[in-house]
Amino acid sequence: MEITQLYEILRSIHGPHGKWWPGSAEEVFISAVLTQNTSWANVEKVLDKIRIKFLGDSDGFNGNFLKTLSALSDDELRELIKPAGFFNVKTKRVRNLLNWVSKYNFDMAAVRKKAQDEVGLKELRNELLSVNGIGKETADSILCYGLDLPVFVVDAYTKRLINRIFAIESSEIADYDSVQQMFESSYPRDVEIYQELHGLIVEHAKVYCRSKPKCDECPLKDCRYKNTTFVEQKNA
Ligand code: SF4
Repeated sequence: MEITQLYEILRSIHGPHGKWWPGSAEEVFISAVLTQNTSWANVEKVLDKIRIKFLGDSDGFNGNFLKTLSALSDDELRELIKPAGFFNVKTKRVRNLLNWVSKYNFDMAAVRKKAQDEVGLKELRNELLSVNGIGKETADSILCYGLDLPVFVVDAYTKRLINRIFAIESSEIADYDSVQQMFESSYPRDVEIYQELHGLIVEHAKVYCRSKPKCDECPLKDCRYKNTTFVEQKNA
């Protein structure tokens, strides 16, 4: 199997996943930080608290709340963020991100405008990476899912899955940039494909390719890990 086939194969197994990461651009800015080292359920709890605090209920959440969030004191922000865990660290990171986006007057269109071409996109990514506490995965999640820009997100699930399917040495897969480059050079610069493909990878890793993989149940036939294991077992 080639990496270029992965999208269609995973889509045939798990069905269309669309954009996958929920929420408005503003929500993704916050959820990309909150989701570090916690479950999505806990991120949702914080987003619900924000909805209730600013909108009075938990339905509909389309307003730009980043400016309002930015006006909160650290204590108020920490209190909101608590359900996502590691709230002291995350409060600092959210604050740093809000300070950065304040330079764009909290205007998502203005941030997006910066990435009009490849050079602008690179500059925008570097700006995000210069924010204290924002690493590559978080920055790329904001770019891809928040701002709909063609940047492929790599996470631990992605590394694990491609390592197993393509039997790449672990020293290579540890490198975020190489994995990202693999995907970005194999697929068209199409944000919708990047968004859905990453979602499909996460889905596959959660359902089948867990830390202890369920190869017997996995519909992915052409996987080097499964086939190698099978050959080794046969020869044992
Ligand atoms: S066959 Fe096993 S190792 Fe390969 S993708 Fe499926 S679960 Fe993962």
